[in-house]
Amino acid sequence: MLLRLEPNADLGRVRSALQGLGLWVRVLRSSADGPDMLRIEPHSRAVSHAEVAAVEGVREVLSPGTEGAARAQARMTLQTRHGGQVEIGGERAVLVAGPCAVESADQIARAAEMAAEAGARLLRGGAFKPRTSPHAFTGWGPRALGWMDEAARAFGLGLVTEVMAPEHVAEVAEIADLLQVGTRNMDNLALLDAIGATGKPVLLKRGRTASVAQWLAAVDRLMAAGAPSVLPCERGVLGGGGETRNLLDVGAIALMRHVHGQVVAVDPSHACGRRDLVTPLALAGVAAGASLVLVECHPDAAAALSDGAQSLNRDELNALRVALAV
Ligand code: PEP
Ligand code: MN
Repeated sequence: MLLRLEPNADLGRVRSALQGLGLWVRVLRSSADGPDMLRIEPHSRAVSHAEVAAVEGVREVLSPGTEGAARAQARMTLQTRHGGQVEIGGERAVLVAGPCAVESADQIARAAEMAAEAGARLLRGGAFKPRTSPHAFTGWGPRALGWMDEAARAFGLGLVTEVMAPEHVAEVAEIADLLQVGTRNMDNLALLDAIGATGKPVLLKRGRTASVAQWLAAVDRLMAAGAPSVLPCERGVLGGGGETRNLLDVGAIALMRHVHGQVVAVDPSHACGRRDLVTPLALAGVAAGASLVLVECHPDAAAALSDGAQSLNRDELNALRVALAV
């Protein structure tokens, strides 16, 4: 159980009140105003959320599936540098589009134009690509961040991009409005802590074999490290069997949204690996409870350096817009 304190809470008094309830407390994070995130250690006495929430100085009890967590995560407001304020979790789904990898300044600019035309609010694209094979394209790194930033600015879009390593967090956080944790890194604790410490919102891909409980634990880990909000994103788990790249777990989306009260995203592109199935899976994700749809598009998919088969062209992206009514 995690506790967020009131900005002016007196740590000594909060701690002794909690100790009086038989709870062991650890300070997880301090802000400029003092300690603001505490953890109730697991070996503490069993206690209800209501009892803890009633302690003076406790603003919120954050724990997956509790009212506190639901309140904190049911909606998300993103302040973007180039695309204004984006509300996630309302009536309409938010569309995010862009190439798998940022390949050149021209490619990302053309992709941004497509995304903006199709009503997307954020541009996606990888500057650092998590590819196991050294023969695969692993992204242009910092140069690509600059190209992306320029493209997002030119078309009035927010920006989401993956950060793969703690040493890249600072430079990615300078341009990204939403920091993406890739599926391979959901369990990379050093990375989660470094990303959380930037104080920026996070898009957290579900690990390929992660249970919903493990996914929620990673959400909590990011929030405990300082992330103000976390958007979990379902992108398919192992088991697709080849014809579809992965297995889109719509049940997990429904569970996250309707049971755990989380705002949640769906990535149909990586879930199925083929462009002809992106729209049906996007609609399935939204029907199950997803509030944001993250898709790959490319101005020349046949020449894409990665994931061309699942990248939408201009017409397909516009058709997705119509289907989603964004
Ligand atoms: C991506 O969205 O660029 C990506 C690599 O996705 P995932 O981590 O889900 O494979
Ligand atoms: Mn991709």
